[in-house]
Amino acid sequence: MLNCVSSSNFVTTHAGTQQPIIPQSIPRTEANLTRMAKLYFYYSAMNAGKSTALLQAAYNYRERGLRSLLLTPQLNTREGAGTISSRIGLKTEAIAFSDADSLFEICRKEHDEEAVACVFVDEAQFLSRQHVYQLSEIADALGIPVLAYGLRTDFQGNLFEGSHHLLAWSDVLTEIKTICHCGSKATMVLRIDSNGRPIRGGDQIKVGGNESYVSVCRRHFKAGLANKDQPELPFEELGLFPGGNH
Ligand SMILES: [Zn+2]
Repeated sequence: MLNCVSSSNFVTTHAGTQQPIIPQSIPRTEANLTRMAKLYFYYSAMNAGKSTALLQAAYNYRERGLRSLLLTPQLNTREGAGTISSRIGLKTEAIAFSDADSLFEICRKEHDEEAVACVFVDEAQFLSRQHVYQLSEIADALGIPVLAYGLRTDFQGNLFEGSHHLLAWSDVLTEIKTICHCGSKATMVLRIDSNGRPIRGGDQIKVGGNESYVSVCRRHFKAGLANKDQPELPFEELGLFPGGNH
């Protein structure tokens, strides 16, 4: 699965077969590093392994002796601020940032102290428009590639602000695929209550509470929202909600 190729100061590929590959024939001189740096957006539904892919790619840099920065919004409280964790048990420390922070300034200062080879951003759906612009500046002005990982849409099928602007501004868009219970590709996310019933309203971002999320195909997303009391989703079969009584 892993395919990590590097020159003296530039890693060209990342974990997984879907990762971008910069042709080896491009000369990697200091002069053209800035021109080559790109902003990548890896998007998916829930539980597709985004954080796992991020941590694996970051590990590949570290293994090559290259320094990368890991950034995560302070909103991300799955493991507490400043931690990126994956469902399969991997986790590492990260720089937590708020809406008021400039991601460009954070990276510029770190880069001044010690060269940064790559910037990783977890939960990138929570970025603001300004944050996404700052990420593009990290690539364009500092010459550092930026890999952002996030959800595409919320539980109502709307783009998150960060995803909206990453889809618009990124150089490379890559879908990390996961599947619905029916076997089709899951592209949507349902918010569900403790009984496994889809929730149709509420805030886009909700931290804490008993709600959880499940990734489904578009057909089952629509069915779940349209048929609230008798969703077609076999949550009990999946073992996700042993107490479910729908
Ligand atoms: Zn489905």
